[in-house]
Amino acid sequence: MKEQLDLLFELQQIDTSIDDASKRLAGLDDGSTKREELEQQRAELAEMEATLKQTDSQQLDKELELESTEEERAQKWSRAYGGTISDPKELASLEKKIEELQRRKGKLEDTLLELYDNSEQQAAKVEQQRETVERLAKELEATVENFERVSAELEAVIGEAQQQRTAVVEKLDEKLLVDYENIREKSGGLAVVAVSGRLCTGCRVSISVMLLEELEKGKKLVRCENCRRILHYGE
Ligand SMILES: [Zn+2]
Repeated sequence: MKEQLDLLFELQQIDTSIDDASKRLAGLDDGSTKREELEQQRAELAEMEATLKQTDSQQLDKELELESTEEERAQKWSRAYGGTISDPKELASLEKKIEELQRRKGKLEDTLLELYDNSEQQAAKVEQQRETVERLAKELEATVENFERVSAELEAVIGEAQQQRTAVVEKLDEKLLVDYENIREKSGGLAVVAVSGRLCTGCRVSISVMLLEELEKGKKLVRCENCRRILHYGE
């Protein structure tokens, strides 16, 4: 019986290590949250880049428009004051046109200043967003690397423990194993606990002298009167 109880205690330790490793495995960050965040930030970056591109293309349009307006104004000006026009009506009409072109030029210059300003601000935002995306990508890479390494380690631990478990189970009495599994299910995975001094380490309650004597004899299975776990008495 003593040998069986020792085996049962060993089984409990193996199962506890399997449970711990499985819990850690399930709680490992596989990077999916970070991946989602990265995708979102990438989409935002694409939007920002598109806005900047649009601003720059508007800017180019306005620059060309400004150039042609200035050209037209210069032409009209040379015509008006080049000494070839004698008709005062024609001159007045030209002057009106020149004024109009001058006003359009002014407006275009204002618009361009605004566009330059916008472009500068948008470019700075794009740069900042690129850095965010790069940082997240690096973090994701590290998270995934860690996940793969640690999960491989944990899977190895679990695999090894399962082999040990099989070896122990083969030597265990079937009825004892069934009891063990039942208690484990009801007691949060912990069916066999050590006695430390006179304390049950499962529930921290003292066990009676009578039970302690039974335990020392090691002739039968002894369960804690309080938590009903199987008690194991080590030397
Ligand atoms: Zn107990």
